[in-house]
Amino acid sequence: MATNVCPECGVMWQEGETCETDFHQMLFWEHEESSRWEVHHLMVLCYHLQHPSLYSQDGLANGIGLLTAFVRDGIAPSEIRRRTKEKVNSKNRDWKITARPDSKGAYGHPVIWTMRATDVIARGADHYVESIREWAQSAYDSIQAAENLV
Ligand SMILES: [Zn+2]
Repeated sequence: MATNVCPECGVMWQEGETCETDFHQMLFWEHEESSRWEVHHLMVLCYHLQHPSLYSQDGLANGIGLLTAFVRDGIAPSEIRRRTKEKVNSKNRDWKITARPDSKGAYGHPVIWTMRATDVIARGADHYVESIREWAQSAYDSIQAAENLV
C-alpha cells in the first residue's frame, strides 16, 4: 500500500483520509458545541496557512499578518474585522484572497510544522479549544522560525 503524504503540510495520511477530512471533522465539532466557535477563526487560518496553495500569494501574506495579530498581539477577531472592513472589502481591494491558476500561495522558506490538523483530531473534541489555541501558537512559531513573517 502506498503511503500518502500531504504535499502541503507534510502529514502522513491514514488510508482513505486527507487533511480535508480533518478540516470537516473540526467544523463538525464546532457545529456540535457552540462554545467551540470562539476558535473558529484560528482553525480556518491555521488550516489555510498549512495548505498555502489554497491562498493566492497576497492571501497568504494577509493570512500571516492575521496570525501575527491574533497570536502575537492578542487582537480579537471583532477588532480585526472592524479595522480591515474597508481594506478587505472585495470592492475596494485589487487582490484576491483565494488561489488562482496564476497565483498560488507558497512560502519563501520551507516551514517545518510541529502541529497539524491531525494532531487536533487525535486529542479529541473535549480538548478542541485548547488544541486550536496551541495549534495557532505553534503555527506562528514555525512560520517565524522559518523567517517567513512579513
Ligand atoms: Zn495537509
